[in-house]
Amino acid sequence: MDNSKAKGLLFLVSAPSGAGKSSLVHDLITKDPKVHLSISYTTREVRPGEQNGVDYHFISQEDFEERKKNHEFLEWAFVHGNYYGTSRLWIEQELAAGYDVMLEIDWQGALQVKKIFPEVISTFILPPSIEALKQRLVGRGTDAPEVIARRLKGAGAEIVHAPQFDYVIINNDFNQASCELQSIIRAARLRYECQARREQALFASLGVPA
Ligand code: 5GP
Repeated sequence: MDNSKAKGLLFLVSAPSGAGKSSLVHDLITKDPKVHLSISYTTREVRPGEQNGVDYHFISQEDFEERKKNHEFLEWAFVHGNYYGTSRLWIEQELAAGYDVMLEIDWQGALQVKKIFPEVISTFILPPSIEALKQRLVGRGTDAPEVIARRLKGAGAEIVHAPQFDYVIINNDFNQASCELQSIIRAARLRYECQARREQALFASLGVPA
């Protein structure tokens, strides 16, 4: 990936299933349209209410293998029995066009992205307790009991990677967690390098040294 062409910022969010990551990210992109959400490719079954091309690009395993072979994924991982991957080309185009991009991916993907794109700003979302996580997974009503059991087991394996992220949000109160996620985006945009790149002409006219 050619990082030098990136004008926008790359963000990623990871969390165990049921921590409220998708709701927080969707709330963020509604409130901040300058953040574009990457739509992943997956071999998982479509859940009721999900739409192809909106929630995910739902593809066959053969199609996934082919894309993987052609290096179309910036990162990919096998999560809860299914393959998931992020389109490299889409990310490159969005960042080159100056948009900020949000990835909603698991810890394995997060570590791959950090290697390829060290400037990525990563956030981990924790639930307020294991009990709350369980209640959210059951309450969602979209997964079979064995799927819920598998996801709960996987939660611990995901949570041990929290120390590898830049920021942590504890999703106890949705509105507060949502404000915290927005704050991370806003603070990143105000970093010196980011402001200097976006406001080149102003900085020059004010005599800010390059
Ligand atoms: P779900 O099937 O519940 O939508 O997602 C299951 C897990 O896969 C979540 O942790 C989600 O963040 C992760 N995931 C979704 N898309 C991607 C992706 O493109 N790459 C990786 N590595 N993980 C993904």
